[in-house]
Amino acid sequence: MSRLALQCSKFEVMMSRAKIREKQSEELVRAEQRASDFYRAHPQYSHSQWDVAWVEGDEGAWFSVMPRARKRWECDSAVVRLIQGVYESTPHEARRILRHRIFTTAPLTEMCRGMVRVAAKTVTGDVRPCGESSDPIHWRELPAPAVSSAEVGDKTHEKSFLILSSPAQAMSHAEKLASEIQRGSGPDYLQDRAVGAVLVDADGRVLAQAANSNSSNKTLHAEVKLVQAFIRKHGGAIPDGARIFTTLKPCKMCAGMIWNCAENTSQIRVFYRDFDPGSLGRVTILNAESPERKRAEIVSMAESCPEGELEEQFLAANPGDKKP
Ligand SMILES: [Zn+2]
Repeated sequence: MSRLALQCSKFEVMMSRAKIREKQSEELVRAEQRASDFYRAHPQYSHSQWDVAWVEGDEGAWFSVMPRARKRWECDSAVVRLIQGVYESTPHEARRILRHRIFTTAPLTEMCRGMVRVAAKTVTGDVRPCGESSDPIHWRELPAPAVSSAEVGDKTHEKSFLILSSPAQAMSHAEKLASEIQRGSGPDYLQDRAVGAVLVDADGRVLAQAANSNSSNKTLHAEVKLVQAFIRKHGGAIPDGARIFTTLKPCKMCAGMIWNCAENTSQIRVFYRDFDPGSLGRVTILNAESPERKRAEIVSMAESCPEGELEEQFLAANPGDKKP
């Protein structure tokens, strides 16, 4: 390439970057105005106490709110509610609506980012309300999410818990759940991927179990259903010592949900049967080499586990590409 051609191409790259930055800042100013309009139009949700997430479409702006004061391990956020609410309210339009950028006044967590990666497209967090927009929009509130179809153990009936006393037993239970998925032969949305997952506590009691049903609602992976059903029913985090057995390595969305909802991230153990080589499953926050996971494991090593036991558990729970 001649020097002149090289300079021209560098100039074009610089110009296109400048255009992208300009577009992004215009988009952010518009989002700040929208946030401001939202709080003015909904005085029952004050900005000091509620976060909002919204996505604009031809029909107006769909929105979900969440109280700002909440526990770290909760399985919902304004963004999670928005995405799941759009799939529940308008299943046939959801993919089209969620191609637009989502905005939220809340900071983004690993759980929010994971769900956007798998079931939506792009998101901007921490939007501060400011100004006023010149084109008012019709706001449409999404209903609270329905209770998931996952089965959850009943704490009031201790004897009703199924006990899976070994990892092999727990994994074969997850396989059974996966094999029971009704796989239709009709349109795409009837074809759920065969994935089953089970959450057991330190004594092997089944706290929750679920099968994948993501073909009509992209957020309903087995692990997301499992965690949300457990937390929505019992109102507590995934307890210390609990383990998750799943037939497929959790993707970014499921890993973010598990990570976010564990009482103690250094204790959560996830066993999977099949490695997922896709871009959404290969590298997640649960991987042994993720910086967050390493920090958690260092805490765990220093605090409690005897050396040999830790190594054994660690290899089983973080097999890299190996099976447990
Ligand atoms: Zn997943």
